[in-house]
Amino acid sequence: MTEIFNSTTLEKLASPSLIQVTKNVFATQNQLNVFEKLWASWYAYMRNDSLATGLLFFLTHELWYFGRCLPWYIIDKTPYFRKWKLQPTYIPSDKEQWECLKAVLRDHMWLEAAPIWTFHPLCKSIGIRVTVPFPALKTMLLQWALFFVLEDCWHYWAHRLFHYGIFYKYIHKKHHRYAAPFGLSAEYAHPLEVMSLGAGTIMFPIIYAYYTGDLHLFTLTCWIIFRLLQAVDSHSGYDFPWSLHHFVPFWAGAEHHDRHHHYFIGNYASSFRWWDFFMDTEAGPQKKDTREARKRSHKKIQ
Ligand SMILES: [Zn+2]
Ligand SMILES: [Zn+2]
Repeated sequence: MTEIFNSTTLEKLASPSLIQVTKNVFATQNQLNVFEKLWASWYAYMRNDSLATGLLFFLTHELWYFGRCLPWYIIDKTPYFRKWKLQPTYIPSDKEQWECLKAVLRDHMWLEAAPIWTFHPLCKSIGIRVTVPFPALKTMLLQWALFFVLEDCWHYWAHRLFHYGIFYKYIHKKHHRYAAPFGLSAEYAHPLEVMSLGAGTIMFPIIYAYYTGDLHLFTLTCWIIFRLLQAVDSHSGYDFPWSLHHFVPFWAGAEHHDRHHHYFIGNYASSFRWWDFFMDTEAGPQKKDTREARKRSHKKIQ
C-alpha cells in the first residue's frame, strides 16, 4: 500500500497504466503542484511504497548518471569543443568509453540491488517522509546547501586518506586509471571507494533526518541528482567560459578535479575549493612552487 492517499482516493485513481494514473492525479488533485502530482502518481501507480522508493532510487541514479554522460560523450566527439578541453591531447577513444561504461554498469547492478529493497524501510524508521505536499522551497534549499558543505568535507578527508599507501594501492588506484578523466569515469572506482565516498552523500541526510525528523524523500532525491551532476561534470574534462566556477569562485568544477587526475597530488575536495585552499593542498606546478617558496622563506626566518 501507499501512505500518500487513503484507500478510497487510491481506488478512484487506479489504473494498470502509469500514464492513466498520472492523468487521473492531474485531473483530481488540484491542490498539488506539478512535481507533487508526478510524485504522487508514481506512488499511486506502484501501490507498494518500498518498491516505489527502491525503483525510484535505482532509476534516478541510472537515468541521471548516464543521461548526463551522454552530452559529454557527444562533446568529446565534436572537434569544435576541443578548445575548451583541459587536456586537449587526450580524447577518450570509443573503446575506452565502452570499457568504462560496462564496468560502471556492472558495479551499479550489484551495489544497488540491496538498497532497492532496504531503503524505504530505512526511510520510514528514521522519519523521512514520502507524502505530499513537499516542504517549502526555502527549507529544501537550506538542506541542499548543508548537504553540499558536509559532503564536500567528508570527500576531502576520505579522498586524502585514499591517497595513502595501501588505501591507494588496493582501492583508489582504479579510479586514477584515467589521467585525463571523462564524464563516464566519474564512478569508475573500486566498490569500496564507491561505498565510502558515496557514504558522504547518503549518511549526512540520514543523520540529519534522524535528529531533526524533518526531511522529505523528494529533497533527498534532488540532492542525489545534484551530487550526480556535480560528479559527472567535474570529470568532464572541459572548462567552458560559462562553467559555474567562473561565476562562483569557490565552486570546484572540472578545472579543479581535472588537475587532481593530471597531477595526482592535491585538489581532493569534490564541490568546493575551500578545503584545498585552507589546507594548502591545491594541485598544479604553480601551487607547488608557491608552497615550496613559502616553506623556504619560513626556514630562513627560523
Ligand atoms: Zn584521487
Ligand atoms: Zn576523479
